[in-house]
Amino acid sequence: MMLVEAADILWRDAPPSAIEHAKTCASATGDLARLSDVDVDVLALALELKAVLVTDDYRLQNTYRHAGGSIESVVNAPSKHVWIWELRCKGCGATSPLPADVSRSKKGPVGECGACGSPMEIKRRRG
Ligand SMILES: [Zn+2]
Repeated sequence: MMLVEAADILWRDAPPSAIEHAKTCASATGDLARLSDVDVDVLALALELKAVLVTDDYRLQNTYRHAGGSIESVVNAPSKHVWIWELRCKGCGATSPLPADVSRSKKGPVGECGACGSPMEIKRRRG
């Protein structure tokens, strides 16, 4: 406990408004679907405090930088690019924006293509 106090750590909960803001930011890049509730909390606090977000999670880095924040990584070199996620058909290659309510599952198809019925996958938007 003394160590914690010495480190001058702030223990805070993100207010609901900050969490909504975080979700909006994460939706803008399509990262929300793959962020955990804890990730969203962390993002909300970083946004509210305008803090430098220290994380090795590329999705958090991507979202926070897209929202105008600064990031530092703990272990890995920071990702160099900000990207947008999209749905892409495995069959015909048709793409569509990632819906905010897309399944939070980590893997597997997330729907069917409206054009050809093949599974859609979450991919980085090209270019
Ligand atoms: Zn298709």
